Amino acid sequence: MQCAECRALVDAYLDAALPEGERAAVREHLAGCAECARELAALGRASSLAQEHLVHYRAPDVLKARIASAIAGERAEPAAGLSSPTARSRRWWPLVAAGVLIALASSGLTYAVLRGAGGTAQTVADEVLASHIRSLMPGHLTDVQSTNEHNVKPWFNGRLDLSPAVPALDSAGFPLVGGRLDYVDGRVVAVVVYGRRQHLINVYSWPEQGSNEDEATTSARGYHMVHWRSGNVEYWVVSDLESGELAKFVALYRQADKAGGRTERRP
Ligand SMILES: [Zn+2]
Repeated sequence: MQCAECRALVDAYLDAALPEGERAAVREHLAGCAECARELAALGRASSLAQEHLVHYRAPDVLKARIASAIAGERAEPAAGLSSPTARSRRWWPLVAAGVLIALASSGLTYAVLRGAGGTAQTVADEVLASHIRSLMPGHLTDVQSTNEHNVKPWFNGRLDLSPAVPALDSAGFPLVGGRLDYVDGRVVAVVVYGRRQHLINVYSWPEQGSNEDEATTSARGYHMVHWRSGNVEYWVVSDLESGELAKFVALYRQADKAGGRTERRP
C-alpha cells in the first residue's frame, strides 16, 4: 500500500469502518510508515478532543458562540503577543480544535442529537428565552465578570460590530454583573447582565436594520421579556423579576442609553 492510499483510508480505519482486508493492509502500512502513523495519531487526538468538548455543551448555538468568542479574542490580542514562537504555536491549536468543533457542530447528525427530536424553526423570542435559561447554568452567565462598567464596556471592543450601552445602575438597585457574547438569530450578540436581589437580568442587543419599534412585553415559562428596536439596534431584556420592577429597569436602561453610554454601531 502507498502512503496516498493509506491517507485516504485512515479516517475510516480510525472509525473501525473498513472491511478486514483493507484494515489489515492499512495496519501493515502504518507499522512500517512513521509519517502515516503520525497522521493517524493526530486524527485520533482531534477526534477525542472533539468528543470530550461536545459532551460539555448543551447546544450547537452556544458552542458556536463560544468558538466565535474565542476566535474574536485571538484576533483582538495585540500583535506584540505574537513575537514569541512558543506563544504563536500555543495559539494555533485551539483554532484547529475550534475548526473541528465547528465541523462537528454543523453536521446534521450532531445538530439532531443535541437539539433532540422536533427541529422546528424557533422564533427570535424563543431563542432569546432559551439563551437566557442556558445562561443561568453554572459557568454560562458571563465571559467578563465585573461590577464596573469601565471593565465591561471595553471588553466588547473588537469582538462585535456593536458596542452595547453598559450604564451604572447600582444606585437604583440594579448592580452590574458582567457581559458575554451569545448566539441568537444566526449571529453573535452582546449581552449585558444586571442583578436585582437574587434575580438576574440579561440585556441582549445587536444591529438590526428597520424602523423603530415600541416596547412590547411578553411572558413565558415564568420569565418576562421586553423587546424594542431603536436606532437600528434590536434589544431584548429577559428576567424572572416581577414585571413592574423589570419595567423600571428597562426605563432606567433606556434613559441611560439615550443620555450617555449610547449603543453605537461600530464600523
Ligand atoms: Zn505512509
